[in-house]
Amino acid sequence: MGDVVEEKKDEEIAGETGCVSNKVKSKDAKGVIEKIKNAKTVVVKVGTSTITHHNGTINLLVVEKLVRALSDLKNENKNVVLVTSGAIGVGCSRMGLKKKPESLPEKQALAAIGQVNLMHVYSKLFSEYGQIASQILLTKDVIENEERKLNAINTFNTLFRYGSIPIVNENDTVATEEIEFGDNDTLSAVVAVLVRADLLILLSDIDGLYDKNPKRHPDAKLIPVVYGITRQIEQNCQNTDNSFGTGGMITKLAAARICNSHGIPMVIANGDNPYNICRIINGEPVGTIFVPNGEEDEDERSAGEGQKGQGSCCPAGQAIIQR
Ligand code: ADP
Repeated sequence: MGDVVEEKKDEEIAGETGCVSNKVKSKDAKGVIEKIKNAKTVVVKVGTSTITHHNGTINLLVVEKLVRALSDLKNENKNVVLVTSGAIGVGCSRMGLKKKPESLPEKQALAAIGQVNLMHVYSKLFSEYGQIASQILLTKDVIENEERKLNAINTFNTLFRYGSIPIVNENDTVATEEIEFGDNDTLSAVVAVLVRADLLILLSDIDGLYDKNPKRHPDAKLIPVVYGITRQIEQNCQNTDNSFGTGGMITKLAAARICNSHGIPMVIANGDNPYNICRIINGEPVGTIFVPNGEEDEDERSAGEGQKGQGSCCPAGQAIIQR
């Protein structure tokens, strides 16, 4: 990603995209690329559309590559966390449903069915690469309560010590509106803060952040580096059209805000090729990188502290970290 900074001046990027960044500092991006290359703890989130086919069945080729890439990071002695969506979609396909049902009990039941299936596939593939997968299912109340939050942090750290790869999802089977994160983009950012990650990678069905929704506007241009999320950028992110997933680009921006304000860089890249993870760690220009605020104090990067008020993109996720 160092090349991106060298090749494109900030003003050029802003000019092309119509998005004027509020913190234009190339040196921050260069520094952040070094940080990414040396990252010790990496959180990777995959969306439903990345790991499942349109009919909700698991895309085994993609999941296989994903597991391989993450196992290789682990072999390099990094702490790796996988945040995975897809449980409800996979549950739907197991039950032969074409669309996600509306009712909460049905969705929660389907999540229970799909989660087992997902974990079975992940656990099997990780085992083939000699890795020990573990499962952590979270709800927002865990993060809001200091004692439970500390418990969760201790569990993550112990799993790292054991050399395990925690696989995280929202605990959809019990989560109700009051205690749900609502989307795994926010969840992955919260997890990144909890484990004091050096990098969050969101693998999506798109190459990165564009100046407008490329699914609707073929002339949309990729934004390689974002130094601050402006209102213009928010306005450029219309909602997603997929039938099983939740989130869209707006929740990814919210995730970036949470991470960046804790000094953690975030990258959105295409999950069709999970080897993009390795390219990102090698410092190659892949997707969109969200550069943290340069002034962030390392000591502030602990869960529940150091959050600076950064707008209203995702009040729920920010509130979690603020407590
Ligand atoms: P995932 O399930 O992989 O997390 P989402 O469907 O939640 O992915 O979000 C990605 C989608 O967001 C894209 O496929 C696209 O339709 C939509 N989108 C809206 N605005 C933008 C934008 N400015 N840049 C990129 N994607 C956008």
